[in-house]
Amino acid sequence: MTDIINRFKKELGENNVLLNEPMSAHTTFRIGGNADIFITPDSIERVCRAVKTAKESGLPYYIIGNGSNLLVKDNGFRGIIIQIYKGLSYINVEDNIITAGAGALLSTVAKKALDASLTGMECLSGIPGTVGGAVCMNAGAYGGEMKDIVVSSKVLVNGNVETIDNASSEFGYRISRIMKENMIVLETVFKLEKGNYDEIKAKMQELAAQRNAKQPVELPSAGSTFKRPEGYFAGKLIDGSGLRGYSVGQAQVSPKHCGFVVNNGGAAADDVLRLIEYVQKTVYDKFGVMLEPEVRIIGE
Ligand SMILES: Cc1cc2nc3c(=O)[nH]c(=O)nc-3n(C[C@H](O)[C@H](O)[C@H](O)COP(=O)(O)OP(=O)(O)OC[C@H]3O[C@@H](n4cnc5c(N)ncnc54)[C@H](O)[C@@H]3O)c2cc1C
Repeated sequence: MTDIINRFKKELGENNVLLNEPMSAHTTFRIGGNADIFITPDSIERVCRAVKTAKESGLPYYIIGNGSNLLVKDNGFRGIIIQIYKGLSYINVEDNIITAGAGALLSTVAKKALDASLTGMECLSGIPGTVGGAVCMNAGAYGGEMKDIVVSSKVLVNGNVETIDNASSEFGYRISRIMKENMIVLETVFKLEKGNYDEIKAKMQELAAQRNAKQPVELPSAGSTFKRPEGYFAGKLIDGSGLRGYSVGQAQVSPKHCGFVVNNGGAAADDVLRLIEYVQKTVYDKFGVMLEPEVRIIGE
């Protein structure tokens, strides 16, 4: 392990290599044990080098962005977490085309789109993920999805940097070929339309107000805990099963929005996992629908 740590330090710079790093500091759930090695490569070249070194180490590794759709278990992650975030967050706007590093926050890209009077990102502007995480998940909200605006992504796949266009990304509901084939997003190109600054701004503000009114944004969470089952809404099924406000330890089905599990302060990953299982079982017994977690679960 010491050899690998030294190699990362040499390749990425000392400041970009952390040891025994609490994952609670890197997830919006504010939950998770320590990662043995936590690295933050700050250029495309460094991401590629870091992934090569991680592969050669034989240790498990996992890519994260803003950790806004992530539950890390209490015993942490025995291996290497590669965070693609602030170091790879450039955003370039040219006419109606935006090119963004995978680590740029969607909200910052949306702000740049607004500044350039570009429409198409309003629905997505409130999703608290990075470009890479949102492309991988095909994140979506209020009738819009990443697939509506992505032209192509530069990805790392089998050690090579390739460009994958929208059609080849095979975007589906909260899934993509990028996720299925463990590709790593390095950069994404978006195509938007020229619009009216005031209208774009008003739409973003209206949707932000809706989010604040309906979602428990004041508490740590990972957004919607479950995917939307076909023909239903997860939150409605959970509410209909009498689980509004149901708690396990400090993890709770949000009384404000039953689709969200929230951390009421110091929740353990185990609390969340037991709550997820209980919700799945109760909803299945009542409605015959098996809820599938949208939140990605990693660790020991
Ligand atoms: C309050 C709140 C509201 C939310 N609202 C929404 C919503 O309206 N709609 C919605 O879809 N989601 C929503 N989410 C969930 C989350 O924000 C999205 O899924 C987001 O796209 C995750 O991005 P991330 O950078 O945080 O990814 P992470 O949580 O860090 O990772 C998520 C997945 O993406 C992968 N990944 C991350 N970066 C990369 C990369 N560069 N290349 C390849 N794979 C990568 C990870 O391996 C993991 O599988 C919400 C979350 C919160 C906390």
